[in-house]
Order: sequence, then structure tokens, then C-alpha cells
Amino acid sequence: MKRAVFPGSFDPITLGHIDIINRALLLFDEIIIAIGVNADKKYMFSLEDRKKHLAETFASEAKIKVATYTGLTVDYCKKENADFILRGLRNTNDFTYEQSIAQTNASLANIESVFLICSPNVSNISSSIVRDVIRNGGDFRKMVPRSVLL
Ligand code: ADP
Repeated sequence: MKRAVFPGSFDPITLGHIDIINRALLLFDEIIIAIGVNADKKYMFSLEDRKKHLAETFASEAKIKVATYTGLTVDYCKKENADFILRGLRNTNDFTYEQSIAQTNASLANIESVFLICSPNVSNISSSIVRDVIRNGGDFRKMVPRSVLL
């Protein structure tokens, strides 16, 4: 059973996340979309809402589970028997950031990070840009799935 954890804040889930998840479904038997809970971080969407957005978006996909976790991602992977961490890359900034995290995770545990490069039509989308657009009253409908709009 090839099981991957896709960790993130998903504040909110965007079409960029969906692109990575849908393509990763070809590689893994199960993907756990895991919302990392960090007590020191301020979020725009509540944990309940973020969970709901994810669950609704993937309601018809049996290979996807939605969960939350605290602590180290590698510890959560071990608990769930997942050998892989899935992450998406948009650009070299993402790469630089992800490289040291992946190397640290590999040194902490025997867990492989797998990176997919995003499709060009979503490379400009990030949760932080969506939040900025929302804060300033802009139209964010083209950047998120329907579940975030409801
Ligand atoms: P984090 O706070 O851990 O970066 P995010 O929810 O912002 O959490 O991102 C989770 C994962 O989704 C990361 O691997 C991030 O690079 C990826 N991701 C976010 N937006 C996109 C996008 N537009 N295209 C591809 N990957 C993306």
C-alpha cells in the first residue's frame, strides 16, 4: 500500500492544491490531506472550515482522507504508516524552502518526499494571495474550489 501524507495549512484550499492532489492520485493508493495545526499561527479560515472545504472537495474520491495533526509531520506519517510526504512546487522559491525541509525530514525518519511541479495554469495561485484578494474585496472565485465559496 503506497500511502502519502499531503501536509499543509490549506488556508484556504486552492486550485493549486487540487492540481497536485489529482495528479498524485496516479502515484499513490491513498493520500491523507493533513492540516497541520500550529497554535502560534493566525489563520483566516477556522480549522473546522478548512476541514470542511477539503472533505467536500474530495467527497467522491475514496482514495483521499482528510485529517488534522499537531507536531512533526514525520511523526504523523509514522503514526499513519505513510512512507511518503507529497508537496507541490511552483517555482525556485518553493524549491529552496522545500529542499531543507525534505532533507531534515529524511534525516529524522525514513520518509521520502515526493514533489510534483504544478501545472502552469495554477503557478500563480497561493493561499496567501487568495487571502490578500479576499481581504481587499477582490474576485477570488477562479482560484478556489466551489466548497470555499459556499
Ligand atoms: P504550507 O503552509 O505547509 O506551505 P500550504 O497549504 O500553503 O501549506 O501548501 C501545501 C502544499 O501545497 C505545499 O507543498 C505547497 O507548495 C503546495 N501548493 C500550494 N499552492 C500550490 C500551487 N498553486 N501549485 C502547486 N503546489 C501548491
